Amino acid sequence: MKVVLRNVTKKFPARGKKDREVTAVSDFSFEIPDGQLVALLGPSGCGKSTTLNLLCGLQRPDSGQIFFGEEEVTQLPPEKRGVGMVFQNYALYPHLTVLQNILFPLQNLKGAEKLSKAEMNRRAREAAELVQIGELLDRKPAELSGGQQQRVAIARALVKMPRILLMDEPLSNLDARLRLQTREEIRRIQKETGITTVFVTHDQEEAMSISDRIVVMREGLVQQIGRPQEVYDQPANLFVAKFLGSPPINLFEGRVSGGRVFIGEEAVLAAPGLAGGEVTVGVRPEGFLLKADGALGCRLRGVEVLGRDVSVLAAHEACPGAVIRAIVNAQERPDPAADTVRFDLKPGKVFLFDKTGDQRLL
Ligand code: ADP
Ligand code: MG
Repeated sequence: MKVVLRNVTKKFPARGKKDREVTAVSDFSFEIPDGQLVALLGPSGCGKSTTLNLLCGLQRPDSGQIFFGEEEVTQLPPEKRGVGMVFQNYALYPHLTVLQNILFPLQNLKGAEKLSKAEMNRRAREAAELVQIGELLDRKPAELSGGQQQRVAIARALVKMPRILLMDEPLSNLDARLRLQTREEIRRIQKETGITTVFVTHDQEEAMSISDRIVVMREGLVQQIGRPQEVYDQPANLFVAKFLGSPPINLFEGRVSGGRVFIGEEAVLAAPGLAGGEVTVGVRPEGFLLKADGALGCRLRGVEVLGRDVSVLAAHEACPGAVIRAIVNAQERPDPAADTVRFDLKPGKVFLFDKTGDQRLL
């Protein structure tokens, strides 16, 4: 089912004299196509959870509309929306077994929606199979690993066959290995069920790997919406460029003059037609090419071998206080004893931003 947000704004009033009004979500418009998994990505406090709460009906927007398919749900209470929610802390009932936890949402159905006992059991077992915990039905949550508990929570969210699945940082309480595994699992389940899903995370790698589309948010404002590769390759502004990518993008103070980009005194790139002036030059770690007569000279600080790749650490006056990190092929590593390294820059991996960082120029 497609989900549409139209100019949705949610403000929280100031509580005391020293408090100020917060615009948690500001004029958010977006259409999630049916069957897609969309990640809401941004730092803590940027409005991700508020957006989910607006979608599930726990909160109402101050203005704007929300549609599931053609139906407007803006003022509908949560239980009438047909959404499944999964939270960071699983929120399972500790005194109930896995099966009873999954059954719980079905037992509260009333009237025409009421199911027979046999049907409830069938559905609960089906959901448990889907998330591969079919053999754990008699255990209590305390007897499960974090990853297994989160699977139970997902099964419980799916058992009512929701129209939309909403997940708020569902992997944050898991250790690194389980996080990776559970994330692949969520993607598999989402694809198998074809259920439109909104997945909240502050982890850019998680968002990149799991979603069809990413919405990058900052202080209640949408910064960019796009496919993961698009957002990485064509960041709309400096904030997005910095938020995506690991190791992070390298930033130099530079200027444009005579159709060329300068870092210090060195012309590092052609920029035909671009107006002169000061810019921030962002270079992805994989955007450096080691070359003896390369355009950009840096002081060599170290070489880290990471199996397949080599990470070259360097410094430059135009990059004050920061270590430059270049990822190069293992065969091309520089002489670690050298004082300087020279690089050419790959044009597709270099972004220019105006000095405010609000706009990408190239
Ligand atoms: P995120 O999930 O991205 O970390 P939230 O959506 O939880 O961010 O919060 C967005 C902003 O709204 C924050 O500044 C937060 O302090 C504020 N906020 C969230 N919920 C409430 C609330 N119930 N009352 C007041 N302020 C809130
Ligand atoms: Mg949150």
